[in-house]
Amino acid sequence: MTAMEGTSVNTAFADFVALCRELERTPGRLEKRRLTADFLRRLDTSEVATAVAFLSGRAFPVSDPRVLGVRGLPNPPADHRSDRAPQDRGLTIADVAATFAAVAEATGAGSRRAREERLLALAARATVDERAIVHRIIGGEMRTGVSEGVVLEAIAALAGGDLPATRRAALFLGDLSVVAELAATGGAAGLAAVTPRPFVALLPMLAEIATDFGDVLAAHGGRTALEYKYDGARIQLHKDGDRVRIWSRRMSDVTRSLPDVVELARRDLPRGPVILDGEVLALDRAGRPLAFQELMRRFRRVHGVESLVGEMPLALYFFDCLMSEGRALIDAPYAERWDALTTATGGRYLARRVLVGDVATAQQVMADALAEGHEGVMAKDLKSAYEPGGRGKRWFKVKSAATVDCVIVAADRGSGRRAGWLSNYHLAVRAGDEFAAVGKTFKGLTDAEFGAMTERLQALAVGDDGYTVRVRPEVVVEVEYNEIQKSPTYPSGLALRFARIARIRDDKAPGQATTLDELRALYERQFGTKGRVV
Ligand code: AMP
Repeated sequence: MTAMEGTSVNTAFADFVALCRELERTPGRLEKRRLTADFLRRLDTSEVATAVAFLSGRAFPVSDPRVLGVRGLPNPPADHRSDRAPQDRGLTIADVAATFAAVAEATGAGSRRAREERLLALAARATVDERAIVHRIIGGEMRTGVSEGVVLEAIAALAGGDLPATRRAALFLGDLSVVAELAATGGAAGLAAVTPRPFVALLPMLAEIATDFGDVLAAHGGRTALEYKYDGARIQLHKDGDRVRIWSRRMSDVTRSLPDVVELARRDLPRGPVILDGEVLALDRAGRPLAFQELMRRFRRVHGVESLVGEMPLALYFFDCLMSEGRALIDAPYAERWDALTTATGGRYLARRVLVGDVATAQQVMADALAEGHEGVMAKDLKSAYEPGGRGKRWFKVKSAATVDCVIVAADRGSGRRAGWLSNYHLAVRAGDEFAAVGKTFKGLTDAEFGAMTERLQALAVGDDGYTVRVRPEVVVEVEYNEIQKSPTYPSGLALRFARIARIRDDKAPGQATTLDELRALYERQFGTKGRVV
């Protein structure tokens, strides 16, 4: 019996309503966390998953594919309304969950009516306050100010306070309801034993910028794996039997945009369960790599994908294996994961890779990568584990052009040929939770891109003094520059000289932009005597 069908458990829905009201009144994060943890602790273990879903404004847990297909709770006719006091034995959490399950399961002819009847029956048994909270759950907006972070911390408290283990479990399971249930039933030991699962996407591991192969080799103990850095889009592919799903770097499901990759995975990859990390590149009909922007266009497409498959074939390069034959490999060393990748792919669709132990050979590999039209190389520590979402010295990216990822925080109106466009972009890097301006540029975009960017930024506008439009920091651009300079005008203290936009990075979230600390480190490195990699 699942939590959804629970009949033997009886926590009153009114208790949940009281918690929501109290959370609403409580401004402090710590206090919200305590209230939430206390509430979860009082529940029967079979109610925990449901309560966590409800707390996040969901009728069902994240990993539960059921949907309600209704917009709200209808009002019952006045003469049917319950006037029972909330403390009377009335609705339970399990009752509400059972109604949601029945509503989701109603399909086919007459299902609309069946859904409506179920909801009306629920509404008739509920108090006004209970109806309001059910309505919020259905609408997906709880307005209690409880973020996922607070729920995660409350779950950690439930499991004896082990926040890192709870966070790791949440990362692998992708669903706080499941994590909470596990914390309630298995405690800290249960959470510690969690491993990645097929069809729950993991955050991709990220790389730090490096400019010198001597530093890279030193950080990796004298030997490193250099892989070509392909200029495409990151994908994570999960396969189990005939089922294949693919996620982008920003964790959106792009399976439907990539039917050709799905087919190839069905045909050429083992049964699984297998999870691979890689890069796709769009090619033109002659097999040359297309601009990154074109590939993003395909990622966003949902309709007419089939016609793009012919127009825009893809090249696929896998570079990591996070699960093979159902066994999670993220804690295994890179060298072992590469072996598993080679076995899983039969040696096909692999990123080109060379193991190197000296700077001269590394530079040669870099030169070859650039000569073949790629962006540079990635250097990976042979002993390193796969750290989902982690950025550190285990993976370095080494590129030919100096680029940083900036967020556009404002734009100036153009004049002359650029009249009507927002054409001079204010670029910022991340400084804690804020963004610090480090330059401006009107270079790098085509006319069509200027037009599209103007529309995008206008939709993000938060202020306008007639000349400069300030925008919500959402658009990430990769910016090339000649030099990083000390700046007396920017509060960040640094400025990019001769900045130009190399490409729009819709695959990156603002939180993945370059940080001010990274920029400072790059600034310092400019003065090294070693020079640039090539
Ligand atoms: P960047 O986007 O400049 O931060 O560089 C990291 C990105 O390079 C990754 O997220 C991948 O999308 C891409 N990439 C291309 N080739 C590789 C590779 N061999 N290993 C890891 N990442 C790669």
